[in-house]
Amino acid sequence: MALAYDQLKTALSLCTGTRKAGQQCNGTLYLCGECGARGCKQNQGTCTEQAFDVLDKCIKCGAHAMQVAG
Ligand SMILES: [Zn+2]
Ligand SMILES: [Zn+2]
Repeated sequence: MALAYDQLKTALSLCTGTRKAGQQCNGTLYLCGECGARGCKQNQGTCTEQAFDVLDKCIKCGAHAMQVAG
């Protein structure tokens, strides 16, 4: 079980977007259960690949259907 958990954790992908300051985001990726948008969660406008704002709202469709992406 411990091994399976480690593999699962390693398989979690990180955000490849770029933050305002120019560094790679590496934030946890989330998935919108409504429209399928995938990205990190940040203050709006922080990362080029973000999909959710800090209130868990999908920036693309406005739904509150945030899920952790596998
Ligand atoms: Zn990001
Ligand atoms: Zn959405």
